This record gives sequence, structure tokens and C-alpha cells, in this order.
Amino acid sequence: MKGGKLIVFSAPSGSGKTTIVRHLLKQEKLNLEFSISCTSREPRGDEKDGEDYYFISIDQFKKHMKNDDFVEWEEVYRDNFYGTLKSEIERIWAMGKNVIFDIDVVGGLRIKKKFPERTLAVFVRPPSVEELKIRLKKRKTESDEKINMRIAKASVEMATAPRFDYIIENDQLEKALLEADQLVANHLSKPESHFVNLKDLEHKEEE
Ligand code: 5GP
Repeated sequence: MKGGKLIVFSAPSGSGKTTIVRHLLKQEKLNLEFSISCTSREPRGDEKDGEDYYFISIDQFKKHMKNDDFVEWEEVYRDNFYGTLKSEIERIWAMGKNVIFDIDVVGGLRIKKKFPERTLAVFVRPPSVEELKIRLKKRKTESDEKINMRIAKASVEMATAPRFDYIIENDQLEKALLEADQLVANHLSKPESHFVNLKDLEHKEEE
């Protein structure tokens, strides 16, 4: 198995990163596959297990942590754990595809640190925190309390933007989508590295 590339999209909740990631997944020439994360939160709206997330219990999540099954994990909100299984990256590479992640800023930067050469880490910046609040309210999938929790976190997340390879300003969606297309295509056109599997790679690329 020859490992592919890793594309990370991180941003505060409601900034539009999921829309951008879905758009990129439709571009066949990019050969991307979505990294399905594990989460201990409940499914929202019409989310499906094994498609949007692997919805698991906190106990199952902790078991994975103990077994060192995650390449990264985070308690993104209190009692809501999210994490990327190593087996998920291996699954996608075995398909001969590149991995695209929709994960929080801490997780995104962790992937970049572990695999600096093959990862493109993109931060999606919303026009303002005020605009985020409006978008989250429109989405109508969370209680006011949960929305406020997400907004409170957004300011801290915004401050991490300069640590990413690239910042996409999402004030006009069409422009943001085009920019994302170009960025990803450019990253994928760079020569592939020769590492054989995830384990070797972690040792080679990790500092
Ligand atoms: P949501 O509950 O809105 O689906 O996700 C909340 C936040 O957790 C989002 O910023 C989302 O990108 C992030 N997230 C989803 N999966 C993972 C993951 O595997 N690891 C980390 N660190 N964050 C994740």
C-alpha cells in the first residue's frame, strides 16, 4: 500500500467548511474520500452511522483511546468526544485515495504536525463571529445553550488560523469553493512520497 495525501479542513462550527468538503468530494479528479470520525455525541438531523460519523458510546470511545487506535482525538465540547481512527486512514489509502478531514482546529493541527509533508491544512474563516451565530441559529439543529457553547469556542478557534498552511475567507461561497478546488489540486500535484504504511510514516514525519 502506498499512502496518499491528507487534506484537512478546520474551522469554527458554522463557518461553512462542511459545504466546502462536500463540494470537493464531488470532484472525481481529486480522488478524495471522507475520513469518517468517531464521536460520542448523538446523531443530528438525518445523519447516518458509518457515513457522517461512527456514532459510539463514551465507553467505546475510551476503549479506543486506551488501545491507541486514534491518530488524534479531542473532547471538542464537554462530554462530546471526537477522533480519527488510524484504521480510517488505512482504509482510505488501501482504496488508493487521498483522505479529506472535516475536524476541529486542534485535531487539524495535530494531523499536520504528525504528517507535515503530505498534509495540506486549510482554515476556513467566516466573515465574523456574529455571522457564525446567525448561521448556527438558521441551521436549527441545536439548542440555544449548545449554540452559545459553539460561539464561545469560535473566538479561541479563530486565533489558531495563522498556524494553518492556508486560510480561505468564506464570505462568498462560490469564491471559497473555487479557491478550495485550486488549493487541493495544487497540493495533490506535488510528488508523492515513498513511505509504505502509516506506522513508518508516523516515525518518519513525526518530530
Ligand atoms: P459537529 O458536532 O458539528 O459535527 O462537530 C463539532 C466539531 O468537531 C467540528 O469542528 C468538527 O469538525 C469536529 N470534528 C469532527 N470529527 C472530528 C475528529 O475526528 N477529530 C477532531 N479533533 N474534531 C472533529
